[in-house]
Amino acid sequence: MKKIRLSDARPHTELILSEIEGGEAIEKKLTDMGLIPGEGISKLDSSGKGPVIFLLKGAKIAIGRGMADKIIVEEKIIKKNITIALVGNPNSGKTSIFNNLTGTRQHVGNYPGVTVEKKEGSLQYGDYTIRVIDLPGIYSLTAYSLDEVVARNFILDAKPDLIVDVVDSSNLERNLYLATQLMELEMPLVLAFNMSDIAKLAGQHIDEDAFLRLVGIKIVHTVGTKNKGTSQLLKTIVETYQQKDRIEKISINYGREIEDELLKLSRSLAKKEALIKPYPLRWLAIKLLEGDKDMADFVKTKVQAEEILKQSALSRNHIKSIFADDPETIIADRRYGFINGMLHEVITRTAESHLKASDMIDRVVVNRIAGIPIFLGVMWLMFKSIFVLSEKPMEWIEHGQIITAAFVSGLLPQGSFIQGLIVDGIIGGVGSVLVFIPIIFMLFFCMSILEDSGYMARIAFIVDKFMHKIGLHGRSFIPMLLGFGCNVPAIMATRVIESKKDRLTTILINPFMSCGAKLPIYTLLIGAFFSKNISGNVLFSLYFLGFVMAIIMAKLLRKFIFTGESAPFVMELPPYRIPTLRALFTHMWERGWLYIKKAGTVILLGCILIWSLSALPLHAQGDLSKSYIAKIGKFIEPVIKPLGFDWKIGTALISGIVAKEIVVGTLGVLYGAEEGGDKSSLSLRNALREDRHPDGRRVFTPLAAYALMVFVLLYIPCLSTAAVIRKESGSWGWMFFSISYATLMAWIAAFVIYQGGRLLGF
Ligand code: GDP
Ligand code: MG
Repeated sequence: MKKIRLSDARPHTELILSEIEGGEAIEKKLTDMGLIPGEGISKLDSSGKGPVIFLLKGAKIAIGRGMADKIIVEEKIIKKNITIALVGNPNSGKTSIFNNLTGTRQHVGNYPGVTVEKKEGSLQYGDYTIRVIDLPGIYSLTAYSLDEVVARNFILDAKPDLIVDVVDSSNLERNLYLATQLMELEMPLVLAFNMSDIAKLAGQHIDEDAFLRLVGIKIVHTVGTKNKGTSQLLKTIVETYQQKDRIEKISINYGREIEDELLKLSRSLAKKEALIKPYPLRWLAIKLLEGDKDMADFVKTKVQAEEILKQSALSRNHIKSIFADDPETIIADRRYGFINGMLHEVITRTAESHLKASDMIDRVVVNRIAGIPIFLGVMWLMFKSIFVLSEKPMEWIEHGQIITAAFVSGLLPQGSFIQGLIVDGIIGGVGSVLVFIPIIFMLFFCMSILEDSGYMARIAFIVDKFMHKIGLHGRSFIPMLLGFGCNVPAIMATRVIESKKDRLTTILINPFMSCGAKLPIYTLLIGAFFSKNISGNVLFSLYFLGFVMAIIMAKLLRKFIFTGESAPFVMELPPYRIPTLRALFTHMWERGWLYIKKAGTVILLGCILIWSLSALPLHAQGDLSKSYIAKIGKFIEPVIKPLGFDWKIGTALISGIVAKEIVVGTLGVLYGAEEGGDKSSLSLRNALREDRHPDGRRVFTPLAAYALMVFVLLYIPCLSTAAVIRKESGSWGWMFFSISYATLMAWIAAFVIYQGGRLLGF
């Protein structure tokens, strides 16, 4: 280290205060300012005149030049070497940039194989000696060609300090595909958006700040042929290198199914982490799932790999069976979805460029004005067709149930407990749930179409602006939509949301999204009390109301409990795909089967229990109002009376805590039990219509039916949902919060509707 005077020191270098000349008085004055030998300082100005300004412990201090002459400092000279690799698609301009950086004249051209030889150069930038390697062009990190093998091995094995991905910015979607893979290597990365002259001609504008915020990577615009942007690129390289420890890891989300498999693979890899060290765990897991042969071979040589290879074969097969496609195709799709979504947020184009079909569809579908009406239209159409198409099959099942009940009834002793239990309890209760199989299956079928076609992901985009208004992000909308199917997987799907506050908000509002199990209740009541031509609208209004309540709650939660900004992240725009019938049926069957299974287990038990409670004690002799269940129902009746509900409805609502499907089953049991002998000839609908209070008034009016549906829509989440809320939020507190506030909201809403409606004369 050499000693110099502060006045002579170069700016922006780190200096150590060594001694102060000029006698005690000056020394005292300077030490009082904190200039004590051994302190580190750094000079700021570079002009040779006027006061000298420097930084001491973060504070700016100015002293006269004469004084600065008396201060002797040591210049810390640290030689810093950085190796950077230029990576990019063929013809993106790597060699041009390489020449600009290193100054070495070399041939610029695109003859095949011209850069298979490793080309090296170096330059000096500040204290840094930067070694630059020009790698052969590659499209992905999967090594197919010799060029790709060379480039990939260099990146993975020689581990440069930083990667500069040279991107042809006039062809971003394709070029960024490589970038998404480089991101996963968790190495410092800078993107050189080359060919920016061409991009500019096309009227393309990139919002670099938004890009940095979303993806955590800096962009530099360059023109390789004109040596533009080179110094900015160097500056950014050094900055990124210096801040490398602070780089935030952004990972692409590959969707629940693939993420689950990646987790399994990472777990089995993690057990041998010491041996696998050179590669990031997640990256290696992705490669194995993609079936990368080199990486499989690598794992084989390094560790006792049977378990890992077995897991990767299992995972690959699992993904294949779900998607009826190779994992690598699905993963590539998701990467393009990520890029598409990201570009949608950061890019603006002023001039028309030629559009692909999916861009053209997106123009309309993700349009700021047309998007929402289209979305609402799709939703309306979906519910309408679910209703219309499932009508006939439901009648068939109902018919089958009546025939079965009559047949079984004849085999059993007339009027016995066992006959009642089997015919009314089991066939009546479970049957009334099974009737809704067609509608449930249709719902899941339609949801799968939305998901598999890629439209679901677009919805997140359409609603993003709106979701920001309620303090959430477009991505929170997908779990909400999935909630229309079942809240359990929907709440699990919130795992993709990184911010804890966003996630908890999304979890807590999810039960307001009316799940498939509530549909039978709506269908039953709408069918009984509303005319056919408005039934679709009534149903739609319920879903819409649930959604509005969710929005209000989200807003309140964000305002009072989970305060703060919502975190930015990329929403995917996957390519449109025509869903395969096989995938649709698989999804429909998997989810629908759960419903049937529930009918055979939980609901069966529930119905037996409810029927028994309604038939006991035996000395009540069929007088339902004297049974145990009536006691329970009547106990809570005062609370629900203001909502227009009687004790039978109360009982059904209590049973619905276990699973919402049981509400219908319970009504089936209760009304079946009351009618006595000729129940098989009357459907539950008629029984509801004919039911009267002791004073002769009808129990159900369309208004009371609507209030009941709203109550069912909002009240207490079912047991499985409560359990998953506890698990995903990690706290009993949130679960109880969810249970109690939902029930309170349900009561208030039903009260307002019922009493308000009566005042208005309904
Ligand atoms: P490499 O294959 O990635 O090494 O790309 P090269 O550096 O060989 O460049 C490929 C072609 O693109 C050459 O004809 C270059 O002159 C041209 N090129 C490179 N950078 C730019 C740029 O920023 N703008 C334009 N218009 N052309 C460029
Ligand atoms: Mg080249």
